[in-house]
Amino acid sequence: MILQSLTYKIMVMRYYKRTMTYVPCDSSVVDIIILGEWLLNSPLILVVEDNVSNLVLATRLLEKQGWNVLSVDNGEKAVEIYQQHDFHAILMDVQMPIMDGYQATRKIREIEKTTGRRTTIIALTAFAMRSDREKCLEAGMDDYLTKPIIVDDFFSKMKHYLES
Ligand SMILES: [Mg+2]
Repeated sequence: MILQSLTYKIMVMRYYKRTMTYVPCDSSVVDIIILGEWLLNSPLILVVEDNVSNLVLATRLLEKQGWNVLSVDNGEKAVEIYQQHDFHAILMDVQMPIMDGYQATRKIREIEKTTGRRTTIIALTAFAMRSDREKCLEAGMDDYLTKPIIVDDFFSKMKHYLES
């Protein structure tokens, strides 16, 4: 949970609503205190999506619910940030540059074999064909949401996983 870069720290502060004071300090202790307080409040969700409008919509919907969101735009960054936080759920786009959602999910499931942790991963997919859904599940995802996002479906699925 140590924040390694300034860019990353600023991103976290953007989503940290209770205190908007940015502490220009490299001390990881300060970071942990700030993040610790923040994380205790409500679920933390990772949104992995390279399309800006989908990302903004998903983030707004989640934040409206009072949930905390961190986001990245490719699978490689998702695997990296996954190892720094304990996410309650991950929303994973399928098609992304550098590393797609299938590969990222496989990597995360691989890491989980050594940590014993199990994070819910829900695909965000524009494909709704049966074979595409099967590909998501085969890669280790728990479920999928189709794009464009349907608000009611989005909430009922997220609540199902976050409240169970
Ligand atoms: Mg995409």
